[in-house]
Amino acid sequence: STPLAELDPEIAAVLDGELARQRDTLEMIASENFVPRAVLEAQGSVLTNKYAEGYPGRRYYGGCEQVDIAENLAIARAKDLFGAEHANVQPHSGAQANAAVLHALINAGDKILGLELAHGGHLTHGMKINFSGKLYDVGSYGVDPQSYRIEMDEVRKKALEHRPDVIIAGWSAYPRQLDFAAFREVADEVGAKLWVDMAHFAGLVAAGLHPSPVPHADVVSSTVHKTIGGPRSGFILSKGEYAKKIDSAVFPGQQGGPLMHVIAAKAVSFKVAATESFKARQERTLRGASIIAERLSQPDVAAAGVSVLTGGTDVHLVLVDLRNSDLDGQQAEDLLHDAGITVNRNAVPFDPRPPRVTSGLRIGTPALATRGFDDAEFTEVADIIATALKNGAATDVDALSARVAKLTAAFPLYPGL
Ligand code: PLP
Repeated sequence: STPLAELDPEIAAVLDGELARQRDTLEMIASENFVPRAVLEAQGSVLTNKYAEGYPGRRYYGGCEQVDIAENLAIARAKDLFGAEHANVQPHSGAQANAAVLHALINAGDKILGLELAHGGHLTHGMKINFSGKLYDVGSYGVDPQSYRIEMDEVRKKALEHRPDVIIAGWSAYPRQLDFAAFREVADEVGAKLWVDMAHFAGLVAAGLHPSPVPHADVVSSTVHKTIGGPRSGFILSKGEYAKKIDSAVFPGQQGGPLMHVIAAKAVSFKVAATESFKARQERTLRGASIIAERLSQPDVAAAGVSVLTGGTDVHLVLVDLRNSDLDGQQAEDLLHDAGITVNRNAVPFDPRPPRVTSGLRIGTPALATRGFDDAEFTEVADIIATALKNGAATDVDALSARVAKLTAAFPLYPGL
């Protein structure tokens, strides 16, 4: 019963320092968010003590009566929220959900086709040293060199060449919507299964502000911690016919005991995601991203060689192209960090710089929308970013930090924590 601050003051200091960092900066990493207090509570609960290998009603351990209720609620809420026939809420993370999807659908050596990592795909969609690249025969499609969009003619061409067993639609860095019906057509044409990884845009789908992949895909995987704003973890939705295969691919195929405290927190997040205020938050997320894209497309920014990939956004993030700017991705990330804004550098398609430097930035709005930001605040944030990117090394960082501090003070994070 010794409090953390007494038992381990070094770790207690990390928690305090991180809370202060989150409070005092503008979090604009597109894959991050702030969970509600209720999620912190569920995750920091006694459910962390419980082993529950198996599934509700079919456990390999005794004493699962309470955690069964939590998992059944999470499953029912996930199915309702997305209109899915089956849900598995046990994956510890997005990557583990994805490993289970491929494990369920195909065998080692079979063929997959996904978006190239350098064009916005994810590691688990076939990167060479990821399990997906080692276990499967990988083909990939890229974005169009002019439009920077995923063009379905190219996807079809690559599918006809590679003849994949699974086609993957989904991304980590792409500012537009995918045409799931068109992906389904290509998959049917080549006899492939369609797997959609909606990790990034799942919150938008839940709010009805982005087309749903669920009617079109055989299997849909996701994280819970990006636009949904829940605990760091994953889940899988599927058609009923894949239910058994998905469940056994997750456990015992990929994982041992499920993290019941996280599953309870997922249930809470799915409940929140069905509310009107969640929808309003996703609307602010989208408007915020559009406001930033619009500001970074103005002539004063363009004059500094900075542009917005695809000319705008339909989702919660903006991709900034710095190939013609004096700043590289690393320098731009550091400059914004110095001003109190956290973003991540990101390769742009056809990037001449190495992945550790890059020529781009990925800027996301989910966390600030959760913090309460609306059009006026996003307009101010957009101008702060524009000012930094156009002035580069000559930026008056103190002036921008002061503007950031005004915004963070006006929207207190986790008051009373
Ligand atoms: N899938 C996509 C599209 C992602 O962007 C990510 C996270 O970056 C993942 C899967 C993996 O999620 P996690 O980091 O929880 O393993």
